[in-house]
Amino acid sequence: MENQFICQYCGKDTSNVEYDYLSGYNHLGCALEAEMKSDGFDHCIMCGVETPYKRSTHIDMRIGYIEGAGQLCSKCYNRGSNHNHLAIPEWIVENYPNDQELGAKVRELYWANKNL
Ligand SMILES: [Zn+2]
Ligand SMILES: [Zn+2]
Repeated sequence: MENQFICQYCGKDTSNVEYDYLSGYNHLGCALEAEMKSDGFDHCIMCGVETPYKRSTHIDMRIGYIEGAGQLCSKCYNRGSNHNHLAIPEWIVENYPNDQELGAKVRELYWANKNL
C-alpha cells in the first residue's frame, strides 16, 4: 500500500510525526513556511482583518506597521496612542463648535500630552 504520510513540501515521511505537528500529511512547519512565502495579504495583528499590504510589501512602504509586532489595519492603528497620534476626547469636539477654538484646544492638549 502506498504511504500517504509524505510531506508535499519537503518530501519526507511524516507517519511518525505527532498529529499536532501535521497539516494534513504535511509538516506544519513546512506548510507555514510555504504560506509565508506565498504573497498573501497581511492580516491585522489586533483584529485579524485583511490589510491592503502584501507580505512582500516593504515595511517602509506601509502605514501602521509596528516593527517586532506586525501590521495593523487603519482602524486599529488610528486607535493606538503610541504612534505619535493624539487622542481627542469627544466632549472637546462637541463643546467647541468654533473650529478655531477647537483648534486652539487641540493644540493645548497636544502640548499638555508632550509634557506628561
Ligand atoms: Zn516537511
Ligand atoms: Zn485591526
